[in-house]
Amino acid sequence: MFSTHPYDDDHLREECGIFGIFGGADAAAHTALGLHALQHRGQESAGIVTFDGEHFHDQRGFGLVADNFSSEEVIRQLPGASAIGHVRYSTAGETVQRNIQPLFADLEFGGFAIGHNGNLTNAIALRKELVKRGSLFQSTTDTEVIIHLIATSTFATVIDRLIDALRQVDGAYSLVALTNDALIGVRDTHGVRPLVLGTLDGAYILASETCALDIIGAKFVRDIEPGEIVTITDSGIESIKPFANSPSKFCIFEYVYFSRPDSSVEGQNVYEIRKRIGVELARESHVDADAIVPVPDSGVPAAVGYSNEAGIPFEFGIIRNHYVGRTFIEPTDRIRHLGVKLKHNANRAEIAGKRVILVDDSIVRGTTSTKIVEMVRQAGAKEVHMRIACPPTAHCCFYGVDTPKRDDLMAANHSIEEMARLIDVDSLAFLSIDALYRAVGEAGRNDASPQYCDACYTGEYPIPLTDHDGGPVPAQLSLLANTGKGA
Ligand code: AMP
Repeated sequence: MFSTHPYDDDHLREECGIFGIFGGADAAAHTALGLHALQHRGQESAGIVTFDGEHFHDQRGFGLVADNFSSEEVIRQLPGASAIGHVRYSTAGETVQRNIQPLFADLEFGGFAIGHNGNLTNAIALRKELVKRGSLFQSTTDTEVIIHLIATSTFATVIDRLIDALRQVDGAYSLVALTNDALIGVRDTHGVRPLVLGTLDGAYILASETCALDIIGAKFVRDIEPGEIVTITDSGIESIKPFANSPSKFCIFEYVYFSRPDSSVEGQNVYEIRKRIGVELARESHVDADAIVPVPDSGVPAAVGYSNEAGIPFEFGIIRNHYVGRTFIEPTDRIRHLGVKLKHNANRAEIAGKRVILVDDSIVRGTTSTKIVEMVRQAGAKEVHMRIACPPTAHCCFYGVDTPKRDDLMAANHSIEEMARLIDVDSLAFLSIDALYRAVGEAGRNDASPQYCDACYTGEYPIPLTDHDGGPVPAQLSLLANTGKGA
């Protein structure tokens, strides 16, 4: 959710996880645990803000949740029965302390902390206008635009100001916010990013994924709906849907790769969907082989499904070292190449002399696949076939999943035959878009109105890309100049 420089509209995006709790003892400790379960959504930095009934307390740092929030002393410095937290992940560029979320501001009505998962697509345009009108930005995150829109809103209540602000932003956002008396959760009208509601001993919890409820023993209640705002106070929970209805466009890549397999997203278990993806892959592009080998960990569920469907043994032919970060996180190509080696090793005994089908979730730059195939060939594989659990990733995401710039997306610049040659496989096949839709429970893709956001595969962006296209400043901005009441 940001560009390192607000006017530098390049590919720098973030992936994030959010968590919030209201009304429980040990709010900070629960938040730290919840964030730990969401660590896969962001490993660059972590932050927690709490409210103790009188004061807000905050702590933010680079690195993992465990690096920042494992000591009792740190948790003691975060007293209070309500808290929000955030983990963030970006791959390159300036990483500065002031961008670490949750952001906090003292506004007319009191303190306001906010954590954001997603990416606003008109933040640069809005920011330029806000700066012209005197707003002083403290960070380069798109999220801060929301704070300034709230601060300058002419509405009276926090919720009305928030609605006023959100009517002006485009893009993908799941939000948690904390005020002096409420925990607020929001999902954008298309519901691009997930957000779920849970309870624990009378406390309410908001989290990006259900795995963050499981870790603290909380009960899943329901998904927050697209366009819904929930406000949790001492009097309970209130829900409103103040925005015009938009078609739901949940990110299909959450199912392919991003969410944790043990999470249920939009009512569906992610692992089951990934297994179904494997079944679809086997039906669409089977080739005779001796072993189905996943690229761990993300290729495992699809490989299980493939193996079941094809009746070919599933083998751990590649072993992953769990003590290194994601290869993707390394900013230079040289290190990234090394990262793949640090992370994976071929299990020669399961590979030598065999015809192997490698199953991975996706190919982005192609670095991982190239190295993995080289490794598997060196381990003596007779044939190497690769099957990918989604269609070719040929377009950038502007809604909160980090992707390199288009030039660096292998599928944006090469045909499948060229990719097969570059990666050096005997055959390469991707899942078709219709099969992906079947795996998530649809009859196929409804081309007239796709049921999910699949822009990374199709290039059809369901939400305007104002900043990217250099399009017009949104009309609603006139609200800022308006002293009267907005819509
Ligand atoms: P690459 O070497 O760029 O082709 O990396 C592809 C691998 O990176 C995939 O197999 C995934 O496991 C992982 N991956 C895919 N998309 C992302 C993403 N947006 N952020 C982090 N890792 C990703």
